[in-house]
Amino acid sequence: MSNKEKMQTTDEDILWTCQYCGEVNTVWLDLTVDGKQDFIEDCRICCRPNRIIVALDESNNIFVESRPSDE
Ligand SMILES: [Zn+2]
Repeated sequence: MSNKEKMQTTDEDILWTCQYCGEVNTVWLDLTVDGKQDFIEDCRICCRPNRIIVALDESNNIFVESRPSDE
């Protein structure tokens, strides 16, 4: 089977705010990854790298935090 059935959410577009210029960016997130996700994304406006930290709680609520990558 190649088609994914939409039985539960396994991916999502999340919003994060650039810590340098304040622009809101979106990034696709793979929710099949367990636990905390921590990665670097470049702002689409100012191209500066932001550190994105994503955590899920037991109810699959998504918490997104962005930080300056050079902090
Ligand atoms: Zn920016």
